[in-house]
Amino acid sequence: MDLLKQRIQADGLILNNSLLKVDSFLNQQIDPELMMKIAEEFVSRFQGEKITKILTIEASGIAASVMTGLILRVPVIFARKRKPKVTGDDVYTANVYSYTKGESNNIIISRQFLQADDRVLIIDDFLANGEAAAGLANIVEQAKAKVVGIGIVIEKSFQPGAQKLAAAGYRVESLARIKSFANGQVNFL
Ligand code: 5GP
Repeated sequence: MDLLKQRIQADGLILNNSLLKVDSFLNQQIDPELMMKIAEEFVSRFQGEKITKILTIEASGIAASVMTGLILRVPVIFARKRKPKVTGDDVYTANVYSYTKGESNNIIISRQFLQADDRVLIIDDFLANGEAAAGLANIVEQAKAKVVGIGIVIEKSFQPGAQKLAAAGYRVESLARIKSFANGQVNFL
């Protein structure tokens, strides 16, 4: 998606040669117009999949997910990284190692929001080692629902997540695929 790649080139900051900071449009300040274009692209790529729900993880996957849910007129669920006090015990959980925080969390979704006949599109902001997406897919499967695909805003293709998810049988659609970071530059596939 050219618009997204241009935005990454213009505003992205590379940290430690492995992390991309895109706080000005995705991870802190959010550009709603760009998020809508991202959502339109996900809808186009997953056309015909009869999606009934979007599933993401807090916090940075939510914006693109809500826009996608708005176009498709389907609910958007986000997994919690910590169990809120108001959430009961009737939950699905999956253990996810956080790439950016360097710690494991049990991500949590109330069981009432996923049913066996759901066709779920998983969306996330970044794909690195595939932990977050695999944890979300695991929860969908605990609910006996179907993962129709995984939509990623920015894939770091030099890390193993995309290959791992494809090898596990999931369809992964990433809107910007980064081949490498070199000399402070982002190089796309
Ligand atoms: P994974 O679970 O695929 O290893 O990592 C994906 C998760 O880690 C995403 O939900 C995202 O929050 C975070 N993440 C991974 N790499 C980056 C990065 O380069 N920049 C930012 N901002 N977040 C990242």
